[in-house]
Amino acid sequence: MGVHAVTGSASGMGKAAADKLRAAGHTVIGVDVEEADVPADLSTPEGRRAAAAGVLRAAGGRLDGAVLAAGLGPAPGSGPAVAQVNYFGVVELLEAWRPALAAAEKAKVVVFSSNATTTTPLVPRRTITAFLDGDPEKAIRSVRHFGRAAPLMIYAASKLAVSHWVRRRAVLPEWAGAGIRLNALAPGAIRTPMVERLLSSPAESRAVESFPVPIGGYGDAEQLGDWVVFMLSDAADFLVGSVVFVDGGSDAYFRPDAW
Ligand code: NAD
Repeated sequence: MGVHAVTGSASGMGKAAADKLRAAGHTVIGVDVEEADVPADLSTPEGRRAAAAGVLRAAGGRLDGAVLAAGLGPAPGSGPAVAQVNYFGVVELLEAWRPALAAAEKAKVVVFSSNATTTTPLVPRRTITAFLDGDPEKAIRSVRHFGRAAPLMIYAASKLAVSHWVRRRAVLPEWAGAGIRLNALAPGAIRTPMVERLLSSPAESRAVESFPVPIGGYGDAEQLGDWVVFMLSDAADFLVGSVVFVDGGSDAYFRPDAW
C-alpha cells in the first residue's frame, strides 16, 4: 500500500480518486482549500509552498503517488485564479515533491489536463509559452482581446501548458530516470460541481450542452476516479508521458487523424 498526495481532494474527481485510494487501503494526504488533511490555497505562492511542505511533512519524505486534480473552470473574472491554480498549482507542487517521488521505487503522477486542450480553437501559442516561462500576468494579458471568451482561452492554455510540462519533464533523467511515471488524464465534460456550476448559468450551459460528445451525455466522477487509481497501479508501470483522453469521443470527433 502506498502514500499518495491528492490535490482537489474535497470535491469532484479528486475526491472520487481519494476515496477510492483510501478504500483500497492506501494512505491519502488530501490538499484543498478546506476539508483537507493539508488545507491550502493553491492560487497563491505562499499557499503552494505551505501545501508542498505540509504534504512532505505528512508523508515523511516519500511519496508513492501524486494526483493533481485541484483546478478551476472557465468563468467570468476567473482568469488570474485559473492561471495560478491550474498551472502553478501543479508544477510548483510537483517540483517540490520530486525528491520524495524519486525516493519511492516506482512513483506515479496523474496530472489533470482536459480535452479543452484539443477542442478549443485559436488558443494563442504565446499564452502557452508565457505559462511555460512562469509568467502568469503575461498569459492573462495575451488573451484579453478575446473578451467574453478570455476565461475559456486561459483555461485551455493552462491545461495545454500543464500537458506540455508533463510530456517534456516525463522523459528526463530527473523524472523517468528516477523511476517517476509522469502522465496526464484529459477528461471531457464530467458531471462534477465544476460542471454543475457551468450548467447553472444560461450562457455557459448553452455552450456545454451544444458541445459534441459522440457517445452522448456526461462522464461520471467515480469512473474518472477509477482511471486515476488504474494510472497509479502496477498495471501502469510502462505508461510514461501519456495524455489519456476520457471524453466520450469529443477529441476524436474534432481531430480524427491525430493521435
Ligand atoms: P471540482 O470543482 O469538483 O473540484 C475541484 C477541487 O479543486 C475543489 O475541491 C476545489 O476546492 C479545489 N480547488 C480549487 N481552487 C483551489 C485552490 N485555490 N486551492 C486549493 N484547492 C482548490 O472540479 P472537478 O470537475 O472534479 O475538476 C478536477 C480537475 O479536472 C480540475 O483540474 C479540472 O480543471 C479538470 N477537468 C474537469 C472537467 C469536468 O468536466 N469536470 C473536464 C476536464 C478537466
